[in-house]
Amino acid sequence: MKAPAFDYTRARSLDEVFHLLSEHGDDARLLAGGQTLLATLNMRLSEPALLIDINGIDALKGISVKGTGSGRVLRIGALVTHSEIEASALVARHAPLLTMAAPHIAHRTIRNRGTWGGSIAYADPAAEWPTCLVALEGTVVVCGVGGERRIAAHDFFVDLYTTALAEGEIVTACELPFCESGDVFVFDELARRHGDYATAGVALVARRAAAGLQRLRLVFLGIGTTPIRARRTEAVLDGQALTPSLIDRALSTLESELDPLADLTHAAATKRHLSCVIARRALGTALSATVAA
Ligand SMILES: Cc1cc2nc3c(=O)[nH]c(=O)nc-3n(C[C@H](O)[C@H](O)[C@H](O)COP(=O)(O)OP(=O)(O)OC[C@H]3O[C@@H](n4cnc5c(N)ncnc54)[C@H](O)[C@@H]3O)c2cc1C
Repeated sequence: MKAPAFDYTRARSLDEVFHLLSEHGDDARLLAGGQTLLATLNMRLSEPALLIDINGIDALKGISVKGTGSGRVLRIGALVTHSEIEASALVARHAPLLTMAAPHIAHRTIRNRGTWGGSIAYADPAAEWPTCLVALEGTVVVCGVGGERRIAAHDFFVDLYTTALAEGEIVTACELPFCESGDVFVFDELARRHGDYATAGVALVARRAAAGLQRLRLVFLGIGTTPIRARRTEAVLDGQALTPSLIDRALSTLESELDPLADLTHAAATKRHLSCVIARRALGTALSATVAA
């Protein structure tokens, strides 16, 4: 199918974007990498009258370090592509979970065009970045005519393809806390073919402690309407010696805690089973990291 007719404009500044959004409201859509938007236009799932191309706005580009001392964060601009994140030395050093997850996103050509901000704003529950952002306890920076707001990742993803963005606001960047020595990161997912959206995936972030893992975050993708954090299972594991028997106990808690939604090809029970399989693998990897420390 072909996209419906639309007007196109290339914005030169954030002010111009905000002005166009307030003038056109829901008739306008931002165009970032276009890797999701153009497909939805071609399938006529959306028929905006105006596309506002934001690719010329320098304020939305770049990966940088902000702040000083213990307040330092990694800032990822909305227009940073998946490939730029994958190749970034700053990301590998300060937020290695993203380096691990990036190769799972689609194929190289899509990663070369698709953007961090597009993925966060679109909030696909099967996408890798929203789950990583929640696991890293990052912050979404949004801006509109009313100024800038910072929203914690766990408050940003509200429902299926629904975020805390207010009308006329856009995602400008995200901020991620720096990782510290002793932090453990694991990312894993299962997909029918490499490059497909995940059937189920998991991000694990924790701090290595004498007794096991502390400040554990276990967040799943592809099984609900948003990234799903398994808080009851985290509580079983947190601060306890990470032994194979504790992992068994955590896995039975996880099985009762997760309540996955079926998709077109997988039943809820299959998703629950696969989530437990990758969680076991992730905890096994974390266990070896802990033993090696
Ligand atoms: C075949 C295929 C396979 C894919 N597989 C995966 C996968 O496995 N994992 C995965 O995560 N993704 C996957 N994607 C999606 C891809 O990662 C997209 O790049 C991403 O979802 C959206 O980024 P974009 O820059 O292309 O956004 P666009 O397509 O330009 O925009 C998407 C939506 O977000 C809005 N938007 C864009 N930027 C902003 C902003 N800064 N603020 C507010 N709203 C904004 C747009 O208006 C639009 O509604 C796949 C895509 C394709 C075509």
